[in-house]
Amino acid sequence: MESAPRPPIGRFAPSPSGPLHRGSLVAAIGSYLSARSRNGQWLLRMEDVDGGRVRPGAAATILRQLTDLALDWDGPVLVQSRRNDLYRAALGILRASGHAYPCACTRAEIQAAGGVYPGTCRHGLPAGRSPRTWRLRLPDAPGSWQDRYLGWQQGRNMGDPVLLRADDYFAYLLACVVDDGAQGVSEIIRGADLLPFTATQRTLQQALGLPALAYGHLPVILGPDGRKLSKSSGAAPWQGNAGDAWERALRDLGWAAPPAMHGASAPQWRDYALAELRRGRPLWDGAHQD
Ligand code: GLU
Repeated sequence: MESAPRPPIGRFAPSPSGPLHRGSLVAAIGSYLSARSRNGQWLLRMEDVDGGRVRPGAAATILRQLTDLALDWDGPVLVQSRRNDLYRAALGILRASGHAYPCACTRAEIQAAGGVYPGTCRHGLPAGRSPRTWRLRLPDAPGSWQDRYLGWQQGRNMGDPVLLRADDYFAYLLACVVDDGAQGVSEIIRGADLLPFTATQRTLQQALGLPALAYGHLPVILGPDGRKLSKSSGAAPWQGNAGDAWERALRDLGWAAPPAMHGASAPQWRDYALAELRRGRPLWDGAHQD
């Protein structure tokens, strides 16, 4: 007899650089529904590792928004700014195995070279220069993976990325991978704006001996100016009540809910969506309509 698949462990990992807006709602609701509809756990992590982008009060606002949306998370909220020791230990492993190397280049030098790090320090620091950052040595051929919603994806090489910045902040790339591993996350459902980082994060997982994860990237919501909504650039929090926010997020995922649901509360929308998914409805099939 086949054993039942293990319930997934999903997560939502907002940066507290502002309140959740219509775009981040889709990632919150999508990751929640994916995990919970298969009786999985849903974890919450504040990605405040880049102190310069954190806005005072934003983390508390996000927790309140999630509570209003009836998105209940499991366990304590993991806060990245308290976990530098773990990131430092991971960097130590990468240094010891040769996956991480010191780099002396300044931002101005990289800009002058066309904006993509050309690998100047890959084989050792140039004479007389001292290290400013630590970078990840990417494989020559970027990896590919099967995305749950977007199908087969081929990573693009964007130059060896920084793991530890010159201002001593750990990069999102490293902190995110370390914490997904530490929290036992098994699936990452998030906005497609993060797609460019996935191949690199998979490389990092391998280098740290962490298991490969399932990835699903959801549609990115654009503002009236045609640009991605972003918390740090002050995108408006959602308007109206939490039930209306659910209705809009599901519409953004391509769902046409029955008119009778209009005006339902957040818990009613949540339970409706979970029941639909358990009946086999896809969370999002927009990318497969071609
Ligand atoms: N902290 C990232 C953000 O708010 C999301 C990271 C992730 O989901 O991997 O954009």
